[in-house]
Amino acid sequence: MFKLPALSYTHEALGKYISGDIMRFHHDKHHQAYVDKLNLVLEANPELKNKSLDSLLSNSDSLPESVRNGVRNNGGGHYNHSLFWQGMSPNGGGEPNGRVMQILVKKYGSFQKFVDEFTTTALLLFGSGWVWLQPNGDIITTVNQDTPIMKGLDAPILCLDVWEHAYYLDYKNRRDEYVKAWWNVVDWTAVSGRLKKPFSL
Ligand code: MN
Repeated sequence: MFKLPALSYTHEALGKYISGDIMRFHHDKHHQAYVDKLNLVLEANPELKNKSLDSLLSNSDSLPESVRNGVRNNGGGHYNHSLFWQGMSPNGGGEPNGRVMQILVKKYGSFQKFVDEFTTTALLLFGSGWVWLQPNGDIITTVNQDTPIMKGLDAPILCLDVWEHAYYLDYKNRRDEYVKAWWNVVDWTAVSGRLKKPFSL
């Protein structure tokens, strides 16, 4: 059975950037619901129970049709949010260094140009979805709770949730302010770590 991962910081820790109110709903309610529904789907299909989430999501095309969407939506929701929480820290913000910085500068010309491109991508994404940074520096998007490994891509190293539930309590319809604030809590140390040890669940 999958379990809701505890946050490594308090609900209030991201302060003025992402409020405790949002964290309590987003982590404790929304993420919990994805975990619960994923477990329900798996309970009804015991042959899938011992598989890792990586394996379920990477091979979701070959799942029986009756469970495919349930695994994609709820398993994706669990995977995506788990990575999202770990990509933020009260001590975050600033710039990456080392290999991550090298990858971004090589691809975008400068860290600021990378930030601008990622931000624009987040603002242009229509409806509910995610923006991802891949280990090769690519910025990609997915809709709903789809996740890069479902498309055969590598595990991402950073993600941003742009579902309205991620920001509406604090920012209402102002997604641009949410994205701008989020850069202040990005945990570049964690992002760096994922180049060495890819995220997996
Ligand atoms: Mn979310």
